[in-house]
Amino acid sequence: MAACKLLTRERATQLLANIDTVLTDCDGVLWQGMEALPGAAKTIAKLREMGKRVLFVTNNSTKSRLSYVEKFKNLGFEANEDEVYGTAYIAALYLKNIAKVTGKVYLVGNTEMAKELDLQGISYTGTGPDPIEGTVTDWKTLPLDPEVTTVLIGFDEHLSYMKMIKAASYLSNENVQFVATNTDEKLPVGNGRVIPGTGCILAAVHTAADRDPIILGKPSKFMFEVMKEKFDLDPNRTLMIGDKLNTDIMLGHNCGLTTLLVLSGVTSLEEARQMQASNSIEHQKCVPHYYLPNMGELGDLL
Ligand code: PLP
Ligand code: CA
Repeated sequence: MAACKLLTRERATQLLANIDTVLTDCDGVLWQGMEALPGAAKTIAKLREMGKRVLFVTNNSTKSRLSYVEKFKNLGFEANEDEVYGTAYIAALYLKNIAKVTGKVYLVGNTEMAKELDLQGISYTGTGPDPIEGTVTDWKTLPLDPEVTTVLIGFDEHLSYMKMIKAASYLSNENVQFVATNTDEKLPVGNGRVIPGTGCILAAVHTAADRDPIILGKPSKFMFEVMKEKFDLDPNRTLMIGDKLNTDIMLGHNCGLTTLLVLSGVTSLEEARQMQASNSIEHQKCVPHYYLPNMGELGDLL
């Protein structure tokens, strides 16, 4: 099992000699919200100079691949569309190629998720605000779209009680598929403000529908399998860098990758040590092989 060791210069040299591909999480590793983290862009450039392939892996469903490329550029990083794996893209890909969706998707998500569905030629309904108007006297006659065959849940700042009712109602038909982008509980914004993440939206629908969704983002293997097939990746020669234990680090363990935790995001070293001290297999999958304070320090070691 992984030992959560500080990545020293000697260990970094040894590790990188056996790595071809670096997967890196975005928020908390490369940037925090709209601000790049110090040294991260330089580290990415250095890894590329060393001949490593760098791929970006984020559970944030609020941007299409194209919008991510723009964000990378604005924050001083270089990335092309093929190198960015966000859950909006991954969900559209899954629905097209694996679920082979016919009919429509009921989308609890934003317009960027809708863009990725458009690119895959998938029809959908449900974007934008959908409040309850006035007093509903007969819920039994609430109009539902008979063409809906799939419910897809992502981050939706317009989540409403009406959307929860519709999602759960579509899912009362067992032939309707239930798919979700990710389960992140909350998003760090600081200053004592808590932004509930997609996991909260999903928990509401999951509870009402009493059904388990297929989850596509980290720690699910699906994202890695897509990248593996596209770039012919060898898990034994792939490093996963992240700031969250039950998504990034667990993804690494689920896929047989080496893992590096950076402490610039949502996790402290104490939390990683608590996982290490636990006997539970789930917790052991949250223990990284290595840790560093931040991405900038990785660049300094190379
Ligand atoms: N989901 C949403 C809606 C977010 O805004 C974020 C981070 O900003 C995340 C998930 C987590 O993203 P990442 O996997 O890049 O840390
Ligand atoms: Ca993160």
